[in-house]
Amino acid sequence: MKSNITEILEEYESLRLRNENLQRQRIEEVYTRLPVIRDIDSKISSIGFEIASSIFKLSKEGIDAEEFISNKRKEIESLKQEKAVILTENGFAHDYMDINYKCSKCKDTGYVDAKKCNCFKQKLINLYYKQSNLTNVLQRENFTTFKMDYYSTVKSETYGVSPRDNIMEISARCVDFCETFDNNNTNLLFTGSTGLGKTFLCNCIAMEVLKKGKSVVYNTSSTLIDNIRNIKYSDTDKSKLDYTLNCDLLIIDDLGTENITQSSQSEIFNIINERILRRKKTIISTNLSLDELQVKYHQRIVSRIFGNFDIFEFFGQDIRIIINSHKVKKR
Ligand SMILES: [Zn+2]
Repeated sequence: MKSNITEILEEYESLRLRNENLQRQRIEEVYTRLPVIRDIDSKISSIGFEIASSIFKLSKEGIDAEEFISNKRKEIESLKQEKAVILTENGFAHDYMDINYKCSKCKDTGYVDAKKCNCFKQKLINLYYKQSNLTNVLQRENFTTFKMDYYSTVKSETYGVSPRDNIMEISARCVDFCETFDNNNTNLLFTGSTGLGKTFLCNCIAMEVLKKGKSVVYNTSSTLIDNIRNIKYSDTDKSKLDYTLNCDLLIIDDLGTENITQSSQSEIFNIINERILRRKKTIISTNLSLDELQVKYHQRIVSRIFGNFDIFEFFGQDIRIIINSHKVKKR
């Protein structure tokens, strides 16, 4: 049986081949439409050859190789500029003939300086934590598709603000969390009943953080506990557990829907506690109120959360019901 690593490396290889083919096609397209570009390219490569072949010869003849090479490099630069101008004047992007990497950091090799690139780590996470559908959800749900007009503008007596103002504030804080991701040490707790956009915002954040090339583990609390137990008790490769502790962002969705036992509580405590100690960010979403959390969970979990998480309370009417009734009216 092929190992996961081998499979992923083969995936990278076929991705690179596909992109190299596409690049060749684009180059041919440009050469056909603009033969002058082919001439420029062949000039560039012959100067490159001149540089390479002259180094040994020049130093033997006592000629200043450094000056010669820097002049030649300048020639190449100006040819490249000329090329970019011609391309854009003819409706092509200036980098149309370059290769398109899915990950520019590792150039789709999976490695940077012999270490696994974040995109590689994320592939392993998706595999180990069964989140293969994550990217599909994420393409649909992002900050730009978040509709706030379903939230009421009527001020809540209990909270002193309207659900609309509340969700706008929360959403702005979430955007800020993503924008300052590298520099903040913030954990977020989303609490409130179902259908108020908690999972949606978790998805938005996951999407933005993944786009930054960070690693994200995103599980419901029950799946997370199952995954951890599976790795602990039936997998030979315990290093897979490191991803819950070391990924850049851990999102625990639906805390409180798992079967809450002594052992599930100790798994949850260990993860939250370890991540706080390692200064790794965690987001928890739960349908439980703050009071219910205190009743259902051990004091040491609750105190870690209350002491280390920014708490956002979602309130208002279930927006999924509002959206559905709008659909009915339209018919
Ligand atoms: Zn990469």
